[in-house]
Amino acid sequence: MPKTYYLYKSSSNMHGPFSLIASNLNKAILRSSGVYLLAHKTSKGMAILYVGRSENLRQRLNHYIGKYNYFFFKTTETVNGAFFAECREFHRYGKANYLNNRIHPAVPAGTSLPSCSERGCKGEAY
Ligand SMILES: [Zn+2]
Repeated sequence: MPKTYYLYKSSSNMHGPFSLIASNLNKAILRSSGVYLLAHKTSKGMAILYVGRSENLRQRLNHYIGKYNYFFFKTTETVNGAFFAECREFHRYGKANYLNNRIHPAVPAGTSLPSCSERGCKGEAY
């Protein structure tokens, strides 16, 4: 059964959408840690297909060129902050049921953070 996806929600409060092409990844701000959404355009709006985070948004987004058409992003001060922001977005867009993500966002290595920032979640994908 093909997946259905949520449309972008303004509550995500992100920059974008931007076309996922190399020239759009040159912005200095993308050298930061943060969270991103990968999207495609539909007649009803931008459908959110994937949620992720990175210590270097530019490097990570570069891997998705040719696979996804659009991205949104939000920078974070810290890697831990990126993890919590990723959890929020992962839940906002319906978790693995409504995203191409197969697993719940992983706790940053070497930290003792809880498995999710969302109440009642123990890190399950669905
Ligand atoms: Zn969770």
